Amino acid sequence: MNLPPVDRAALVRDRRDLHQHPELGFQETRTGTLVEERLRGLGYDVKTGVGRTGIVGLKGTGARCVLLRADMDALPIEEANEVPYRSRHPGAMHACGHDGHVAIGLEVARRLAAVTLPGAVKFAFQPAEELSGGATAMIRDGILGAPPVHAAFGVHVWNELPVGMIGITAGAMMASVDEFDITITGTGGHAAMPHRAIDSVLVAAHVITALQSLVSRRRDPFEEAVVSVTQVSAGHAFNVIPPEATLRGTVRTFGGKFYEDAPRLVEDTARGLARAFGADATIAFRRLTGPLVNDPAMADLMKSVGEDIVGKNRVKGDIRTMGGEDMSYFLKQVPGCFAFVGSARADGTSFPHHSPRFDIEEDALPIAAELLTQTTARYLTG
Ligand SMILES: [Zn+2]
Ligand SMILES: [Zn+2]
Repeated sequence: MNLPPVDRAALVRDRRDLHQHPELGFQETRTGTLVEERLRGLGYDVKTGVGRTGIVGLKGTGARCVLLRADMDALPIEEANEVPYRSRHPGAMHACGHDGHVAIGLEVARRLAAVTLPGAVKFAFQPAEELSGGATAMIRDGILGAPPVHAAFGVHVWNELPVGMIGITAGAMMASVDEFDITITGTGGHAAMPHRAIDSVLVAAHVITALQSLVSRRRDPFEEAVVSVTQVSAGHAFNVIPPEATLRGTVRTFGGKFYEDAPRLVEDTARGLARAFGADATIAFRRLTGPLVNDPAMADLMKSVGEDIVGKNRVKGDIRTMGGEDMSYFLKQVPGCFAFVGSARADGTSFPHHSPRFDIEEDALPIAAELLTQTTARYLTG
């Protein structure tokens, strides 16, 4: 296959342009228009409004169809970087690298448009990854059909890895993301007369502590899991016992029994403790994203491509994170693989994802574009 060379300058130009114009989940209209126009210009069959603000580009026909996914959304963060391509939208920032993903997707589309493929390639420029609703919205709108998709691939620029490294792990690589809200209802009263009230704050404190015992005492130690309580709110005055306290938090796993049991365990713990104090608790438990699981054969394929690009000892097969990704929904429906492409400075001074100082080493962009392009070519010709 005679692919044109990777255009690093175009990747950087696109990424910086997108970085200056970040758009939050389901509001990616400028980004979507740019993608739509570019794909049309390259001769793709384009559909807009797939999963609200998502864009789909299709090229080719054949026995097999590959889905390539790039998420487009930014985060509600005020950028703290002083760079020429700093965000121009107050309160919004590409602090996860999705600006890079769109630029990478467009470059892969450009190169694949220049060759005759023995199959079809379908680009999913996906909205709202950070809100966890984008992938499911696109699936609901039929992205995996007409033509049916046989394999899915995607990349994430990754500041937990130095630039020049690639992480591809077979099996579970990213965690499930659950969210819970607990409302504890006691009765309010005077801080000086606690016996006349049921103290929702004290119950909340016990619930927070007891939730930590789920990981240490209710989970098989060979299953990874995290339970974090991240928001606590109650009360408005120093001398009033508040009638209500609310807790919010998250459960992360790589699947398994604890994943299945978590909604019941959180509910039983909060309810049981509240009742022991004469209070009550209501729990809302939401499964936002399932664990991201790479198909072993597809991971092998992508790994061998990665090794050809950066060298055998620069592709790591054991990178996992308790972070979540809604690419998991595509990989639940079709076999595929998601890869981390190192984007951190080699000296370890890069800031993590979702930091207001997040930025990437742009040498990651051509590596990621090459990885996706060659993986597609090798899958369709293999
Ligand atoms: Zn993110
Ligand atoms: Zn991300």
